[in-house]
Amino acid sequence: MTEKKSTPQEEELYPRAFIQSLPKSDLHVHLDGSLRLETLIELAKEQNLELPSYTVEGLKELVFKPSYANLGEYLYGFHFLTGVLQDPKSLERAAYEFAWDNINEGVCYVEPRFAPQLHINDKQTMEDVLTAVNHGLVQAKHERNNMSAVVDGSQPPFEYGIIACAMRHFEPTFSEYYRRLYEVHQHSNKKEIHAIASLELARGITKIRDQLGIPIVGFDLAGEEAGYPAEHHQAAFTHVHRHFLKKTVHAGEAFGPESIFQAITDIHADRIGHGYYLFDASAVQDPIITNRERYVQDLAAYIADRRITVEVCLTSNMQTNPRIKELRNHQFRLMRAHKISTTICTANRTVSNTTMTDELYKAANVFALGRRELKNIVIYGFKRSFFRGSYLEKREYVRQVIDHYERAEEEFFGNFEPKQ
Ligand SMILES: [Zn+2]
Repeated sequence: MTEKKSTPQEEELYPRAFIQSLPKSDLHVHLDGSLRLETLIELAKEQNLELPSYTVEGLKELVFKPSYANLGEYLYGFHFLTGVLQDPKSLERAAYEFAWDNINEGVCYVEPRFAPQLHINDKQTMEDVLTAVNHGLVQAKHERNNMSAVVDGSQPPFEYGIIACAMRHFEPTFSEYYRRLYEVHQHSNKKEIHAIASLELARGITKIRDQLGIPIVGFDLAGEEAGYPAEHHQAAFTHVHRHFLKKTVHAGEAFGPESIFQAITDIHADRIGHGYYLFDASAVQDPIITNRERYVQDLAAYIADRRITVEVCLTSNMQTNPRIKELRNHQFRLMRAHKISTTICTANRTVSNTTMTDELYKAANVFALGRRELKNIVIYGFKRSFFRGSYLEKREYVRQVIDHYERAEEEFFGNFEPKQ
């Protein structure tokens, strides 16, 4: 792993080693977007799939770049990542390595998300896909939680919950499953086909969770926002809502505040992925809304009051919105000023070339978070998780995490406050 340095104008309030030592969560992380590049190369060779390069350096130069020109360029690499994950063995390996990459940098709670329908084909059903991913995760969890550091209580145990992503929009070329769906429903329009796919996924995952005991804890809506509103997926979200799955929705990533409003009102989002354009009154499009500033303030107040958590992905936002230019200009500043519940996440470890330690290090230092604020943000990541157990078990786990956090703080700072 390459060591990342802060830019000279940023004063380092919190050393990287301190951030690394903290117990961390990651509530917004795409499994496919986090596949190790070494594994991508190995799997592509085994499966005779073509890649633009067969070295890590070459792939970083051509596909998985440090910065991207636009969202399209950012998304380009996913085609290769999902391409090699079309059988149970590859999926299991990806999930296992993903879990260990997290554990190795102090992430003890993670909610990997992915779209099962991108992996369904002749060789594997939705059930096979989720079983394979769960096998990889559960194996890593057992290995980790049997290590002496966890057994003797010096590190918190590793836990996870899976989030299944429905797609706002897809084409027949996206996967074998989608191709067939378009074929079967050739007389339906796109909007109807998108809704059918989401409902099939919602029904499938609740059944798989209940019958196989796989910890699927959440449902997500991902993909292009413009022209593909959340309301098309209402039936699916109503189904998961009735089956006690939690809901998170990608909204306000590349579209205005109305997309966030729809996520909350039409499909009852418990958390918002990105929410970057929450405060952008100029992006409000509905002509009925005459006072756009007021609309944005009301929306922000509602989100803050209801404790709807925004999954903030700093690096990913910088990469998909190059016009932000400097991280200090990121809307995280305004979210904090409005006391919105936020949690820091990676989005894609490989595509964004980042880790939870990197993201938290940037958030803490660039935004000069106070010690209490940093702690609140980290702990909120656990409190607002879609933890699989009972509420009492969740509280017990969060309590353990807080104890570990305070120990890590004590070890690093003793009784001294970091410079402000
Ligand atoms: Zn995402």
